[in-house]
Formats: sequence, C-alpha cells, structure tokens
Amino acid sequence: MKWEFLAWLERRFRTSHQTAESFQWEKVEHLPSVLAAKRVYLVGDDECEWSAALTCPCGCRAVIHLSLAKDSNPSWRVRRHRNGTVSLLPSVWRTVGCRSHFVLYKGHIFWCRDIPRFGDQLLS
Ligand SMILES: [Zn+2]
Repeated sequence: MKWEFLAWLERRFRTSHQTAESFQWEKVEHLPSVLAAKRVYLVGDDECEWSAALTCPCGCRAVIHLSLAKDSNPSWRVRRHRNGTVSLLPSVWRTVGCRSHFVLYKGHIFWCRDIPRFGDQLLS
C-alpha cells in the first residue's frame, strides 16, 4: 500500500510538474501589454483567431507574433490539447534577434538545432 501510494504521488507530481512547465494556450480579444511566460495567446473573436503571440522561449523576452490567417504567408496552425497545452505548426524560426528555431508541440519546446531533420521537414 505504501509503495503504491508513493508511486501514485510520483506520477501525480510528474504530471503537475510537466503541466506547469509546458506552454498553455489562452484566448484573448486583445493582446495584453505584458505577456506571461509559457503561454500562447490566441488573438481573435468568437468567429476566428487571426494571430498568436508568445514570449520567445529562449529567454530573450522578445514577443513573437504569428499569423493564423490561412491566406497569409507564412501562417501557422494551432492545435489545442485537452490538458490545456498547445502545439504550433510549422516550426518557428526567428530571422531577427536571437534567431531561435523551435517547434512547440504539446506544450513542449523542441529546439531545431537538436533535431535538425525534424526541423528541416517542418520548414517548407
Ligand atoms: Zn529568443
């Protein structure tokens, strides 16, 4: 019984820890002037969302704006997951500043320098 409890606690801790560390989405009508870390803001109304914004995960504090409009180029697709996390496709590659290149998948950042093939495939 004791070991079962510890195992349960361990699982629970891991789950909550993971959720706290991962990016969550939040729907807003207007982007707040200060963005929270680990949050993807989806800007739009009831009908549609036209942009997403997040603070750069590298820690440089730059705000990254992504267009979600299908007819704009480039544009990104957002997937919301049941646990509140979010995925963005394709990868995000900053051409200015820190030049971060990453994929946000299920709330987790995957740096493309660590997974070059994965990154290349997502970049078109
Ligand atoms: Zn950065």
